Amino acid sequence: MFFPSTHECPHCGAELRLRTLEFKDRPVFAGCEPCSCDGAAKERMEAERAEAERGRRDAELARRRAYEKAGIAPRFEAASHAMAAECADCVRDGANLYVCGGVGTGKTTLAAAVSRILVDQGLSVRFTAMWKILDAMKRGFDEGRSPLPAYQKAEVLVLDDLGKESPTDFALERIFALVDERYGRLLPTVVTTQYSRQDIGRRLAKNGDKDTAQAIVSRLLQDCRTVELCGGDRRLR
Ligand SMILES: [Zn+2]
Repeated sequence: MFFPSTHECPHCGAELRLRTLEFKDRPVFAGCEPCSCDGAAKERMEAERAEAERGRRDAELARRRAYEKAGIAPRFEAASHAMAAECADCVRDGANLYVCGGVGTGKTTLAAAVSRILVDQGLSVRFTAMWKILDAMKRGFDEGRSPLPAYQKAEVLVLDDLGKESPTDFALERIFALVDERYGRLLPTVVTTQYSRQDIGRRLAKNGDKDTAQAIVSRLLQDCRTVELCGGDRRLR
C-alpha cells in the first residue's frame, strides 16, 4: 500500500510529515504532525472546544438520566433551594428529614434539590409519593412481584406529600413494612408533608389502625431533622 510521506497544511501550505502506526504488520495512516501556523492552531482549538462541549452535554444527559431514574420529575430536575446543601449533609450522615409546611411553601422543591445533590454524589435515591408505591404494589401484585424491596433498600427514600391521602389499614401496613425495614437498615427517609410532627400520626390513623400509624411516625421521627417551611420563614432543627 502506498502512503505519501507528506501532506500540505490546508492553512499555510507547509509540508507536514505524516504519522503512521503499525497495525497487524501494516502501516496505518495516523494523521500528520501538527502545523504551528495560526490557522492550524485555531482549528485545533475549535476542535478541543467542540470536544469539551460534547463532554459537557454527555455529562448533563447522564445527570438527567440519573435524576429520572431516581424518580425526580422533569419539573424538579433543576430544583435548587437555599437549605438543600445543609439538609443533604444531614441525610448523607444518616438522619431522617421531616419537611413540613403548607401548600406552595417549596417542600417538594427542597426535597428534590436534596435528592439531586445526593444523586450527584452517587447515592441510590428513590423519590416518590406513597400513593405511587401503593399503586405500583397493586400492579406488582397482579404481575407476581413486589416493588417494595427496591424502596426498602434504596440508600435514600423520599416520600413526597405523606398524609395527602389518609391511608387504609392495608396501606398503613405497607407503609410500616417500608419504614420499619429502612429503620432496621439504618437508611434515611425524607418526608415532605403538610402536617406537623404532632399532627401526622392522627392524620395517618384517620382511616386505619392507630398503633400502626404511631409506630410509623415514631420510626420516621427518630434521629430526625425537621424543616418547617412557612413562606419566607425557614428553619432547620
Ligand atoms: Zn499551517
